[in-house]
Amino acid sequence: MALWVTETHRGTMRLSFKVEETLFSGQSPYQKVDIVRTQDHGIMLLNDGLVMLSERDEFVYHEMIAHVPLFVHPDPRRVLVIGGGDGGTVREILKHLGVEQVVMVEIDEMVVSACREYIPSVSCALSNPRLELRIEDGVRYVARTREKFDVVMVDSTDPIGPATPLFNEAFYADVARILSPDGVLISQAESPFYNQDIQRPMLMNQRPFFDRLHIYLFSNLTYPGGLWSFGFASKGLCPVKDFRPERVAQSGIQTRYYNPSIHRSAFALPTFVSENLNGV
Ligand code: SAM
Repeated sequence: MALWVTETHRGTMRLSFKVEETLFSGQSPYQKVDIVRTQDHGIMLLNDGLVMLSERDEFVYHEMIAHVPLFVHPDPRRVLVIGGGDGGTVREILKHLGVEQVVMVEIDEMVVSACREYIPSVSCALSNPRLELRIEDGVRYVARTREKFDVVMVDSTDPIGPATPLFNEAFYADVARILSPDGVLISQAESPFYNQDIQRPMLMNQRPFFDRLHIYLFSNLTYPGGLWSFGFASKGLCPVKDFRPERVAQSGIQTRYYNPSIHRSAFALPTFVSENLNGV
């Protein structure tokens, strides 16, 4: 009988993928971690039964979280990633040769070690000498660090368990303190269809610290609803007007989803999405 892995979203809809083989299954202090080989979506990582990535479409999420801010900030040298234990975000950031250091703070060592072993196509940059990998709570890290960053990327799970404070005002206050004056915060902003109740409070909690707040969209084949979003917050930079498209070609960076037209159009929001953000 065929094996399937099924994500149940908010108890009301399900997404299933046909599985050929379970590669890893473990329970960490934070979550259940599963890595399976699917029939049509490559290797897939699930945390607590929720799809984190598949080899089939992970390039979309990881290119969009990394290249959008790194091609808007005029000179990004120091980048902080909170979460992101699979390594996909770091892989894309390190394509930018001007980035001197990336600090990645992932709470769960099991995610990192399992992805290193079973998903090398995604975790391949985790041993790069420009990366400092810390296994600790990202909330504690931003509260205590004295370091400054040009871009902070929150590559987190949904606001459940240890990721809950990553959506709170106190966390954004700390992020604003450690960002350089041109700094940019990117945050995983969930599904525009299903998670409007998360997206709006997330931006409300960022509002006291950032003059510019934007949502941008991308398609994600293996997430519920197929459409997903990131938040772009900064003290002054506009992600469209301050974007210099010529830098993309000059960088020589190879991408499969991201390009200058996608960059600009990602910030064009359907009415139902922008209406939910009215007054934020
Ligand atoms: N692309 C994914 C998505 O949106 O489904 C996110 C992938 S990444 C695997 C998310 C990571 O965030 C998880 O490995 C989880 O352990 C980590 N995480 C959750 N809360 C955290 C916290 N407070 N500090 C650091 N990492 C955290």
